[in-house]
Amino acid sequence: MNTNNLPDNPYLLLTPGPLSTSKTVKAAMLRDWCTWDEDYNLKVVQEIRNRLTLLATSEKDLYSAVLMQGSGTFAVESVIGSSIPAFGKLLIIANGAYGMRMIQIAKVLGVAYETYILAEVDLPDIGKVRKLLEMNPEITHLAIVHCETTTGILNPVREITTLAKQYNKITIVDAMSSFGGIPMDVHDWQIDFLISSANKCIQGVPGFSFIIARKDKLEQCKNLARSLSLDLYDQWTTMENGGKWRFTSPTHVVRAFLQALVELEDEGEVENRYERYSQNQKRLVEGMRKIGFTTLLPDIMHSPIITSFLSPQEEEYSFLKFYNLLKDSGYVIYPGKISNGDTFRIGNIGVVNPADINQLIEAIIRIKFW
Ligand SMILES: *Cc1c(COP(=O)(O)O)cnc(C)c1O
Repeated sequence: MNTNNLPDNPYLLLTPGPLSTSKTVKAAMLRDWCTWDEDYNLKVVQEIRNRLTLLATSEKDLYSAVLMQGSGTFAVESVIGSSIPAFGKLLIIANGAYGMRMIQIAKVLGVAYETYILAEVDLPDIGKVRKLLEMNPEITHLAIVHCETTTGILNPVREITTLAKQYNKITIVDAMSSFGGIPMDVHDWQIDFLISSANKCIQGVPGFSFIIARKDKLEQCKNLARSLSLDLYDQWTTMENGGKWRFTSPTHVVRAFLQALVELEDEGEVENRYERYSQNQKRLVEGMRKIGFTTLLPDIMHSPIITSFLSPQEEEYSFLKFYNLLKDSGYVIYPGKISNGDTFRIGNIGVVNPADINQLIEAIIRIKFW
């Protein structure tokens, strides 16, 4: 596809998604599809489901990928609302806004839950999780966020899901902002339901989310859903029937996502993407520290996805002014999201290279007004 005629984006998004996508991903949206036709169902939808399952695990026959309309939260709500029986109880570990959102979802849906809530700068303690599982035998499911995009902290998911399996719990992982950007294998990591969305590390455009789940656990979701449109079992069984969606699918976005998956393969799969994001993050932190910025988290807790910086204490500083000057220079950053503390965030994911980060650092030095 010739992309020469496509306009350049006015600025680079350094955000946790929607993020900067390639022109070829955007160009893939420039045609219409019939949702009844094989060209779409088989060559696009089924191809995507197959590629996602292969990306997620080497044990691909045990797992299946389900695409779901809506942003990432819709898929989280679909899994929590469809996988937990009336007698079940969900343990939610939360150290940020997305963990807290899962608690809110459980509350709204009337799912029984237990929580382990931590400060946004703290990692869950494995001993404490073990104790919670031992003291609450009625817990049937455990949910945790992999990369908490609130701060960029990377949770020890594998340790926690492995522990949960020792107690026979069903494991749910919100890997929204990490899947495709950090190597993982859902089978090795003992994840039953992994949730992510189109507009994060796969580098597609926003409009749908997906769940990669163990088939035997999907089977158990039959007749459990607390919502019609977010019924995971129903969506799965319909999709198994030749790639059909129950309700209108975002065809253009889905086609763009297939292109994004092809480009992930061309980049050298998740390992190379992880390497690029890691380089971006390393350069960013080095450069920002030279300018005088401090990261919210110590390096050891960090994901390569997004980084939180403390706002400068100088009176002249204002985030909005900083944001607007940077935007005029061609870079869009993200406000902070932590509850007590003044921070801002810079993302490393999307079509962003170490050279872009070098230029960002130069731009920040140029515009520094505090
Ligand atoms: C982006 C994100 C979500 C989903 O947010 P949406 O706005 O619904 O797409 C959920 N969890 C994490 C960790 C995220 O980064």
